Amino acid sequence: MERLSGNCVYEGIVIGEIYLDIDTNLQNEKENIPFEEIGKENLRLEAGIKKSISDLKNLKIDLKGKVNEKELEIIEAHILLLKDPMYISDIKKLIEKEQKKAEYAVKETTEKFVRLFENIDSPVYRQRMLDIKDVSNRLIEALKSENEDYKEFNNKILITKEIYPTELLKLHKEGVELKGIIMEYGGTTSHLAILAKALKIPTLMGVNDVFNHKWKEKIILDTTEESTCVIADPTDEEIKEYEKKRKKFLRKLNLIKQGAHLPSVTQDGVNINLYLNLGDSEHDKINEIDRELVKGVGLLRTELIYMKSQTFPTEEQQLEKYRQILNSLSKEQPIIIRTLDIGADKQLSYFKMPNEANPFLGLRGIRFSLKYQDIFETQLRAILRISNERNIKIMYPMITTLLEVREANKVLEKVKGDLRKENIPFDENIEVGIMVEVPSVIMMAEAFAREIDFFSVGSNDLTQYILATDRLSETVGELYSSFNPAVLRAIYHVKKAADKYNKKISVCGEMAGDLKAIVALLSLGIKDLSMVESSILSAKSLVRGLEYKTLENIRENILSCETEEQVKNILKEYINY
Ligand code: PEP
Ligand code: MG
Repeated sequence: MERLSGNCVYEGIVIGEIYLDIDTNLQNEKENIPFEEIGKENLRLEAGIKKSISDLKNLKIDLKGKVNEKELEIIEAHILLLKDPMYISDIKKLIEKEQKKAEYAVKETTEKFVRLFENIDSPVYRQRMLDIKDVSNRLIEALKSENEDYKEFNNKILITKEIYPTELLKLHKEGVELKGIIMEYGGTTSHLAILAKALKIPTLMGVNDVFNHKWKEKIILDTTEESTCVIADPTDEEIKEYEKKRKKFLRKLNLIKQGAHLPSVTQDGVNINLYLNLGDSEHDKINEIDRELVKGVGLLRTELIYMKSQTFPTEEQQLEKYRQILNSLSKEQPIIIRTLDIGADKQLSYFKMPNEANPFLGLRGIRFSLKYQDIFETQLRAILRISNERNIKIMYPMITTLLEVREANKVLEKVKGDLRKENIPFDENIEVGIMVEVPSVIMMAEAFAREIDFFSVGSNDLTQYILATDRLSETVGELYSSFNPAVLRAIYHVKKAADKYNKKISVCGEMAGDLKAIVALLSLGIKDLSMVESSILSAKSLVRGLEYKTLENIRENILSCETEEQVKNILKEYINY
């Protein structure tokens, strides 16, 4: 029996067939194609070129007025490259004379050109080299996309080194249901993990050397908290044993479900407000959610709307999307819309971010919006317009300085002015808050508290920046923990500043949906928690079993802990799962 372990993202027990996502494409691409398929391969190449050019043209139209002329010139240069007779004829030569597949021919030809430019010491040629690499990636993607058969993944447990959030979204969009995911890549607060949780896919991350095991066709994946594991080669007895365990687990879930409509209140009558984290209607299945279950939406991650789009969504498209997403919630329920939080592991296929050595410390969140003000203004117009129909609040992500808040508010005031001139109604008293993700906000918490309406702690990023540990890291991942006393003290520090100025504070990072972390947050006096829909029921069930007064009494113990282990030891007493 081969048992593998990793980090659980979403709890569940699944027994099912696997899909090993080994990248064999390169191998297949190298193989020669039969002579009679050369014509077909040339047609594929032409279709791929056509698609890439059309995508680039659309991108150019979309970006006009939003980015500077220099960036538009890059797109034009890419279109010209796709029409370059020398480049294209060299690719075709490989297809026709050496009977190679189009993808391989593009790759080989590109490498030849890159080698040529590499040896020329000139910035112009360096740029040319980057352009050609970029264009070839786009062309290969276009060639691959027509070949992909997503159905192969359906109802399988996907075993992969890594899958990107956009790929998972694509599978979901194609109607593919994954039974589970096992992957080598770690990072349980990565956006991929958040998405897997939202899609309710039992997922195990950080499994070593994932392809180097004796996988049987049918395996067991158990991500229930007490015994997270994978059995790669289960015996019939083990399958029977886990089928029983699965039934027991489902019964427990059912029990929790029965308490769904009860209020989220502690044993001693303290209300704990549970809010939803949402991305996009398609993956959050918001329309299936009973509005009574939650207080409102504590975090609407708008970047998912942008990530699913082919180009920057227009004001009307965004407005329509908000209407769709918020459809099943009542008009009174508060909705916090976070402005675009793009950058680092959240990329747009149609917008090239600058190459930075440390993208997590680079152009992200509000920094992007303040740089590309037109994109920001379009989003603010859409948010303000929906505020006329719903109880909306605005939240800025990745705030580092007070000046950023002031600058963002200036843009907001300008947009409000434009709407007034156009006689378009919006909520004149709309509240504006910030995410607490960067340590500078902790240090300056009181100053921020004077200028904003509310704080929402983004514990995923806050943990990463306080501990200087990449939330996606496989090498130093053990250092990343929101239970580190430094993180808890930081949260308490902002909480005190918020109280002093009578401002609201909530937590919307993954901590808010983690049972142990909920106990810690409640002990610090945080009573507003925002989490993915899949965590709401167990959070409510936990809250109903806790006594707030007792938790207040452990606050000092928790804050005086020196290590993460000490914190966890205190907390585990309060979790009877
Ligand atoms: C966070 O950082 O905790 C957060 C909620 O933002 P995101 O996970 O989208 O970066
Ligand atoms: Mg964040």
